[in-house]
Amino acid sequence: MEEYSIGIIEDERPIADLLFYGLRQEGYTVQVAYTAAEGLRMFAACRPDLLILDWMLPDGSGIDLCRKITEQYNLPIIMLTARSHMDDKVEGLEAGADDYITKPFELREVVVRVKAILRRIGKIRQQKEKQENILTAPPLRVNTGERLVWCHGRKAELTPREYDLLLYLLEHPHQVFTRDLLLEQVWGYDYLGDSRTVDTHIQRLRKKLDLAEQIQTVFGVGYKYLPS
Ligand code: CA
Repeated sequence: MEEYSIGIIEDERPIADLLFYGLRQEGYTVQVAYTAAEGLRMFAACRPDLLILDWMLPDGSGIDLCRKITEQYNLPIIMLTARSHMDDKVEGLEAGADDYITKPFELREVVVRVKAILRRIGKIRQQKEKQENILTAPPLRVNTGERLVWCHGRKAELTPREYDLLLYLLEHPHQVFTRDLLLEQVWGYDYLGDSRTVDTHIQRLRKKLDLAEQIQTVFGVGYKYLPS
């Protein structure tokens, strides 16, 4: 599952706490700031996927902050406000906010909106990754265009054959392969080595890419890849 982080900029502690614990309970990583200045620092340090921003902050207006952030970054912002005038809503949306929640609100209402926005981002990311030939198979990300692999976000050094074997397994999840079949598919018919070559490569992939659980040995047969 994709992990998302949410930033909250809200000076009223009870509200900030409610959002912090409520959203953390939903499985998000949550950061809180209580002033506009703190909020900017928090934003720069954590770059959350979504921001919940209060309209009135002790050291400035949320709407100015919203404008400032959206000028430079593309991320969804939910504005919180005690006011419910239509003009404010328009002003908020013009400043780049995605959505708007009027206080007092129920936590559930915020969670529903947050989920809807993150679902939308998730879809856009997926489409983008598809266009860019990115294959996601936690803990791996593979760029099949450039034959690059990242494990837990760090670039992995694979030999061309290790890469071919990995990609073959990732593209055929759950299927059990004999060593001979893998030799044939990955090394080619004319390869003269023996099936222990496959074992060696599998061991190296497991070790280099933290795939001990995903690449399973099927006793007496061969190997299979199980996505996590
Ligand atoms: Ca406030």
